[in-house]
Amino acid sequence: MRVTRACYGDISLYSPGPAGCRIDLSDNTNLWGFPPAAAREIGRADAETVTRYPQAYSSLLKDALSEYVGVPAAMVVTGCGSDDTLDSAIRAFAEPGELLAHPDPTFPMVPKFARMNGVVSVAVPLTSSYDVDVDAMLATGARIIYVCSPNNPTGTLVTRAAIETILAGAGAGNQVVIVDEAYAEYSGESVIDLVASSERLLVVRTMSKAFGLAGLRVGYAVGAPALVAEVEKSRGPYKVNALASLAAVAALGEGLEWVREHIALTIDHRARLTSEFQNRGLSPIPSAANFVLVPVRGAPSIARNMRERGIAVRCFEKLPQLSGALAESDGAALRFSIGPWELLCEALIAFDAARSECE
Ligand SMILES: *Cc1c(COP(=O)(O)O)cnc(C)c1O
Repeated sequence: MRVTRACYGDISLYSPGPAGCRIDLSDNTNLWGFPPAAAREIGRADAETVTRYPQAYSSLLKDALSEYVGVPAAMVVTGCGSDDTLDSAIRAFAEPGELLAHPDPTFPMVPKFARMNGVVSVAVPLTSSYDVDVDAMLATGARIIYVCSPNNPTGTLVTRAAIETILAGAGAGNQVVIVDEAYAEYSGESVIDLVASSERLLVVRTMSKAFGLAGLRVGYAVGAPALVAEVEKSRGPYKVNALASLAAVAALGEGLEWVREHIALTIDHRARLTSEFQNRGLSPIPSAANFVLVPVRGAPSIARNMRERGIAVRCFEKLPQLSGALAESDGAALRFSIGPWELLCEALIAFDAARSECE
């Protein structure tokens, strides 16, 4: 007889893959580092910072985020990484047994968080042009509609028009829409402004990518005050620790220049890496994020071979075979995080060697 929740029986632990590679391009974290202003704050922390509880709901961090995204602080909720924010939001919006619709492929933590909250996830394949299938998403009647823009792992943007259509449909069905903008800084686009006119839109963001703070776990979401208040209840107090909060506030202030500089470099290197793949006769998916997904036959053996050479990339064995390149690769693809060109150059050398050995 089980002593724990039956629905947890087939939930497996998230496994980010083997660590310890010389060059790790597998998780889209910031390969340049993080803002020096944030490092300085951590070094300066005193005993009180460590021995006392942090602010229960991170009001200083909320103020800094509110200025960064341009909404009142009452429209911001923070979390222990945006993973925590997504988890809390799902719990706040859906009763156990209700549905969450998400595109396929997308961020794999989302269906996991749905299950952890007793919510049933429904995968809706992207269209052959990597767009969200708006009608199919709405047709699920799901309580929560999740989209990710730019989408992980394709790097493709969900158009503003698509999100507006989903919001209009969600109004009719009393649904909530979550837009995950973990990579928005690299796309130059956002739908955060739409929260002013929609009580059912939550835009989730993170400081793990452009701000380089993945190890500190700082995420947040933006939405109507009443919506955000429910996520905050579901989240609970003290989720952002004192050091993380100090570093994040510094990163959003003095650190912003560093962040912007490295966003620009990322965008530049993304274009260079994309054309390197094209020069090799491959068809990388045009990306608006800090990674590039390249469909390639034999991706699993190439990834293993690259790992032996000290380079980790994320391998997808069997993505839905949406279109030309992915159909030709049988759904196999590799995702490369963008970083300093020296690292990408080494990765390309390993990729070429691995490909010729794996042929
Ligand atoms: C990396 C990523 C996150 C960020 O997760 P954190 O918990 O904030 O580190 C969220 N959503 C997507 C789609 C991601 O790829």
